Amino acid sequence: MDRARIDTGDEVDSYCRQCKLERVHNVVALVDGEVAKVICKMCGSRHKYNPIDPEPNGSAPKAVGSGGATKKKKPSGARRAASAKSLESQWEAAMAEKDPANSRTYSMDGSFKKDEVIEHKNFGQGLVIQVDAAGKMQVLFKDGTKRLICAPVQ
Ligand SMILES: [Zn+2]
Repeated sequence: MDRARIDTGDEVDSYCRQCKLERVHNVVALVDGEVAKVICKMCGSRHKYNPIDPEPNGSAPKAVGSGGATKKKKPSGARRAASAKSLESQWEAAMAEKDPANSRTYSMDGSFKKDEVIEHKNFGQGLVIQVDAAGKMQVLFKDGTKRLICAPVQ
């Protein structure tokens, strides 16, 4: 479809900065056959022609295939973040009632009690939420609950 040659006075769609909307404008000036200035039919403001859909040029992907190692994939990222956040806040709420200064360093042969704060070299500070007689306990860490070995309850 050949586009009819635009002339002054023709109607064109342009973004109007006054109306902050796409509006019908009349062409008031042409430069080299292209619309240069328009006047808004709604508010009468004159301004540069602002086409809504700029021609999609230069949209070629940037530098793909240089063997880059910084590809970031985020499958179901929002969900993971949400659950991680709730775990963290659960941990923060639990730790808020405790005195971290009283934490004991975790060791496999140590005996621990429920509600005790421990310090684990990998997981950080955690709160003992359950101790099994068989020598296992559940500890709430910042990134979730872990099962750790401990001395059997005597
Ligand atoms: Zn306007």
